[in-house]
Amino acid sequence: MHTPLVVLGGGPGGYAAAFLAADEGLDVTIVEAEARLGGTCLLRGCIPSKALLHVARVISEVDELRADWGVRYDANPEIDVDAVRARKEKVIDNLTGGLANLAKRRKVTVIRARGSFIDSKTMKLEGDDPSIPEGGQLTFDHCILATGSVPAMPPAFDIGSDKVMDSTGALALADIPETLLVVGGGYIGLEMGSVYAGLGSKVTVVELSDGLLPGADRDLVKPLAKRIEKMVDGRLWLNTKVGSMAESEDGKVEVTFEGPGKFGHERFDRVLVSIGRRPVSRGLGLENTKVVVNERGFVECDSQQRTADPHILAIGDVAGDPMLAHKASHEGRVAAEVVAGKPSVFDKAAIPAVVFTDPEIAWAGLTEEEAKNAGRNYEVAVYPWAASGRAQALGRTEGLTKWLVDPDTKRVIGCGIVGAGAGELIAEAVLALEMGCEVGDIAETVHAHPTLGETLMNSAEVFFGTATEIY
Ligand code: FAD
Repeated sequence: MHTPLVVLGGGPGGYAAAFLAADEGLDVTIVEAEARLGGTCLLRGCIPSKALLHVARVISEVDELRADWGVRYDANPEIDVDAVRARKEKVIDNLTGGLANLAKRRKVTVIRARGSFIDSKTMKLEGDDPSIPEGGQLTFDHCILATGSVPAMPPAFDIGSDKVMDSTGALALADIPETLLVVGGGYIGLEMGSVYAGLGSKVTVVELSDGLLPGADRDLVKPLAKRIEKMVDGRLWLNTKVGSMAESEDGKVEVTFEGPGKFGHERFDRVLVSIGRRPVSRGLGLENTKVVVNERGFVECDSQQRTADPHILAIGDVAGDPMLAHKASHEGRVAAEVVAGKPSVFDKAAIPAVVFTDPEIAWAGLTEEEAKNAGRNYEVAVYPWAASGRAQALGRTEGLTKWLVDPDTKRVIGCGIVGAGAGELIAEAVLALEMGCEVGDIAETVHAHPTLGETLMNSAEVFFGTATEIY
């Protein structure tokens, strides 16, 4: 069997590339090991985590009402874990069903198989899908490699117990453990920790470095850290290393800790290991091609997503940081257009990052630390949400909006937001960065009142010393 273009991996990078290539008139085959398209993002990442986070968020909003806003509820919430899990699965089913239809409508062939490279133009297909051609080989003119990433699990934590979970295990929501240890204070650990805490688990977070979300702007992390501290009842152990894990006789996991945050050992009903993800580049037969894989396991490619092998392009998590679904799909667009003969390049001024905790954190462009480390001349304009009428009305005054501005050109070079709905608000900043806006453009743009979006305008006004609060 021969195909002009095979896409290996059906995640947000792979299916976007395949659909866009089909729209360009190419004959496309997706090879995906799983029964459904969607990849990590749809099946065990972005979407299920947000479906569960929403449940946790609604519970905590009710608690806010109960606390001091003059509304009384008599009963405590009862969690039907099977129903919560079923709703999450329904969301996934709806979206994967939609993808299958989109593939069909575009006449994209989908083969359920594990693919690996025999050489630069031949793929071996393994599996039991009847559509696998006889001999199990597929030849191609071009391949877009979109095999994504998987959770990293150090051998010391891989103790063969279902009580020690990665993010996939945590999203399966087998039960709501009484106690949960989250190893790693990155975005996946904090999001999943928030889900379990919201559903009633007593959560502990342990982090090796001296702060949550290494890499994020410290001004943004501060209000979140405060809320996380409250959520975990002070059991946020920073600068602390997990030494070992072992299943104890009572069916719990005994964990040893070394650090000022915690020293000694403690037992937990479940442990979530969320210390990062590794690209899927091993076991693919890439050594039979000219593709170059770097020391971190990422496939090296240029701004057109071309690898060192003229027949193979790479996109998404396997092609490097940031490992985010929207980066994967935009790279997928570029790769599809390049295969179709267009001169496209992936050249973005900003790729937004969002942490869907409560409060949310979102940023785009340079963070202050990055600007500092790069020796860039910059000025900062910050607007605290305590001055926002909308934030006051919502009872969410802990937020802030921050622009980084190049003082010579007055162009915005970075934006960070912490607060309710920051993930939605960052879109305006990404557009501003992509369009090369000057800070004055944002200050002079009329924003609706009272909205949290106004804080983007207000912090731009702070740059000029003209911010006015209208309540
Ligand atoms: P993937 O989505 O990983 O898809 C790769 C596909 O390739 C998989 O379906 C896999 O089965 C298939 N595959 C691999 N090897 C083979 C093979 N040899 N043969 C056949 N098929 C193969 N990102 C965001 O932007 N926002 C979020 O909110 C967000 N939340 C997340 C929450 C969690 C818990 C996790 C784990 C991740 C989250 N991510 C989020 C990251 C996001 O899921 C990834 O960045 C994104 O899925 C990468 O897309 P991809 O197409 O590169 O690869």
